[in-house]
Amino acid sequence: MYKDKLKPIAVLLLVLILFVGCQSPAVADISHEVSHEVSRIELNRIEEHMSILTSTKANGRLAGTEGNLYIENYLADEFLALGLVTPDFVTDYRHAFDMRIPMKQQASVLKLLNQETNETHTFRFGYDYMEFVSMNHFRSTGKVEGEFTLIEDPFALSDAPENHILVFNQSGIGHNSYKIFFDTIFSSGKRPKAVLFVNDNQNNGFYIGSPASLFLTGNDNINGPIVMSITSSTYEALKQVPQGTLTIDIDVELTEVTVNNIVGFLPGTVDEGYIICAHFDHLGDNLDGTVNTGALDNASGTAAMLEIARVLAETPNRELSYYFIAYNGEEAGLWGSEAFAKMGYVDPSAYKVVNLDMIGASDNIPLLIAATAEHSDAYASAFLEHIQRYGFEAERSYSGGSDHFPMEQEGFVAFGIIDFDTRYYHTPYDTTELAVDLERTKAIAEAVLDWVRTDQH
Ligand SMILES: [Zn+2]
Repeated sequence: MYKDKLKPIAVLLLVLILFVGCQSPAVADISHEVSHEVSRIELNRIEEHMSILTSTKANGRLAGTEGNLYIENYLADEFLALGLVTPDFVTDYRHAFDMRIPMKQQASVLKLLNQETNETHTFRFGYDYMEFVSMNHFRSTGKVEGEFTLIEDPFALSDAPENHILVFNQSGIGHNSYKIFFDTIFSSGKRPKAVLFVNDNQNNGFYIGSPASLFLTGNDNINGPIVMSITSSTYEALKQVPQGTLTIDIDVELTEVTVNNIVGFLPGTVDEGYIICAHFDHLGDNLDGTVNTGALDNASGTAAMLEIARVLAETPNRELSYYFIAYNGEEAGLWGSEAFAKMGYVDPSAYKVVNLDMIGASDNIPLLIAATAEHSDAYASAFLEHIQRYGFEAERSYSGGSDHFPMEQEGFVAFGIIDFDTRYYHTPYDTTELAVDLERTKAIAEAVLDWVRTDQH
């Protein structure tokens, strides 16, 4: 895909460079003249930002935690160093807003006791299972113990015992069927103590749900079941021990916090241009010795945004103006972008949006160009063609699962660029080493930089 396509282009460029004696490094798009600006995106600077965003000190950047605050300050310092201006509607680059976030109070527990041998097996959070606290009727705090029942067909509940721990072997419960799945359970009258269901990354391209995900409207129903997604290997392990009992213990509190988006402005000669944004928050510390570092999601987009900002800030004679926004609170439901868009300070008819969320996956998957509103369609489709000319395999997506969505809702023309690689998504595996191809992050940043140099789109 991307890499394969790059090879012939690189060879062509090399010929071109030798022929015309140009000393500029290669830009992947041969249909444009070799751009000095675009080639100034530096890999080592992206790498440096990545290492700070994924550092121990950042601790997974969960909104409302010290690690998140550390990165807020880092980003504001970077904006200052680049000479970005604080827009007059924020203070010291900081746009404060209130949000609710599920905050873990203790390490989660999922433990299997074999009654015959008295052996216990402790499953690993984020690797073998993950709790869901993102829907109204789920319990987010409490301990349950007891026998469990394995159920092959998630919609065939008639044989399931009441007040049990129910374990479903259904990998194919897609996003859209969640509601049907849980409605079926709740309407069955079985009142399970807990619901575990197979929902893993490796086997079906789907992912383990996160403790802080979309659709969070409240999770304080103490009568609801504890809900967890498990991998198919966890299911197999349970299957081996039919005489077993499970211990489940979680404590996730929905907490009110005040956090900041970091907003910088780079004025040109006209009051129009682009908003280039990326969320910097992630899912934080699991309190069991593992951290969701969120390298691809979304240290990658944040690092690329900073590097694009640097190159533009150092470009003389700019006509267009640019806002750079590092959004906070994205993972718990797009809080930062919604707060910003609703503030109404930036004119949606003057600034178009490029949202970077997970760019530079280590897997060769088609890059998604996501936009939900009809008024964004032509803009998103034009960018799709633009990035394809850069040698990327890319697809139009209509997903609203990132910060372009609230901005579109408030009238902005927007798209999100998303490398939706689900292999390590929202797990402690999302590290730079495993999940990110920084060369690809850089190449996407170059394509974006090229895109925002003119307002011809
Ligand atoms: Zn995420």
